[in-house]
Amino acid sequence: MLNRERLTRTLIDLIRIDSPTGAEDAIDAHLTRQLAALGADVLHDDYGNLIANLPGASAAAGTPPVLLSAHMDTVEPGRGIKPALDGDTLRSDGTTILGGDCKAGLAIVMEGLAAAIASGLPMRPVQVVFSRAEEGGLNGARNLDFSLLHAAAGIVFDGEGPVSRICVGAPAQNVVQGSITGVAAHAGLEPENGTSALLVAAHVLTRIPLGRIDHETTSNVGVLNGGLKRNIVPESAFIDGEIRSRSQAKLDNYTGEFYRVFDQIGRLFPTASIDVNIRSQYRAYQVPDDHPALAGIAQAVRQIGLHPVFETTGGGSDANVFFEHGIAALPVGIGVRDFHTTRETASISEVLDGARLCQAYVTAS
Ligand SMILES: [Zn+2]
Repeated sequence: MLNRERLTRTLIDLIRIDSPTGAEDAIDAHLTRQLAALGADVLHDDYGNLIANLPGASAAAGTPPVLLSAHMDTVEPGRGIKPALDGDTLRSDGTTILGGDCKAGLAIVMEGLAAAIASGLPMRPVQVVFSRAEEGGLNGARNLDFSLLHAAAGIVFDGEGPVSRICVGAPAQNVVQGSITGVAAHAGLEPENGTSALLVAAHVLTRIPLGRIDHETTSNVGVLNGGLKRNIVPESAFIDGEIRSRSQAKLDNYTGEFYRVFDQIGRLFPTASIDVNIRSQYRAYQVPDDHPALAGIAQAVRQIGLHPVFETTGGGSDANVFFEHGIAALPVGIGVRDFHTTRETASISEVLDGARLCQAYVTAS
C-alpha cells in the first residue's frame, strides 16, 4: 500500500541531500542502501551511474525487464535546500531551487517499487537507472554502460506536470561553437590595420536563423564573448549556441545553413579566420500513437484512474539517449512545476500518483 506520509518523507530526505551536477556521491550512497534494502542487486558503471536489477518474483522466465529511470543531479542554486510543506505543495524557501527535478522522480521509483514488492503481486523484472550529470548535456546517460541494460521499454520519471503527461517526442540537439580570430590593432592609432572579431561575430548573428524557427525547430546563441580592452580592436570572439529540432532532416538542413553563413561571413572578412564546430549532443525521438511502449504506459495511467495525455517537448532528456540505444523509455510528469527556478514546486498528491503509476506499471501482466 502506498503511504502518503512515507512518500513525503522519502522525497524530503532526498531533497535535503545536496546533489548538484558533479556532486552526486552522497545521494548515490543513500539510494544504493535503499535499493539494496528492497532486495535489488545494485551496481555502478565506470561513470558512476547507478544500475539496479530486481528479478521479478513470479515473472515468466525470459521476460525482458522494464526500465525505470530518473537522474540524481540537480541544477544550481541547489545547496542547503530547505523544503517546506504548504498544504499539498512542497517548495523551497525561495533562495534555492526545490530539486523536485528530479528528486520527485527518484522518490516515485523508490516508493512505487516498495509498494509493488509489499503488494505481493507478480512483478515484471525491473532495471533501475539513476543517472548522473543529466543537467547540462545528458552526460551521465551518454556515458552509460549500455552493455549492462537489457530492458526494451520503460519510463523516465523526469517530466513537468502531472504523471498523466507522457512525452511522445523530443528534439535532437546540435551544439554550435564558433571561434573567430581577427587582427588586433590600437583602436586610436591604426584601427584600419585591425579586424574586429566581434564585428565578424555580430555579422554571423544577424544572418543565422535564431529563435523559434518553426513548430518543431529552435535555435539560440547563448554566449558571445570576446575582446580584451576598450582601446584594442578585438582579436578573438567566441560564439556558443545550439539548434534543436524534432525532425532530424530539418536539423541537418539548418546545420548546413549555419555552416553556409559562417562561410559567407568568412569570405566577407578575408583577414579573419573562423573555426566552426557543430556536433550532435543527442538525437530526436518520436513514437507513433500505437507504439507498444507507449501503450504499456498509457494502460498503467488508466489503471490508476487518470487519462493519459500525449505531448511533445522542446527539451531533451535521458530518454533521447535511451532511444538512441534502442530502449523505448518515455518521460512522464513527476508532479513538479517551474523546473530550474527558485519558484519550483512539487505537488505531493501528484508525486503519489507517480508512485501509483510506477507500481501499476511494474505489476502489469
Ligand atoms: Zn530533470
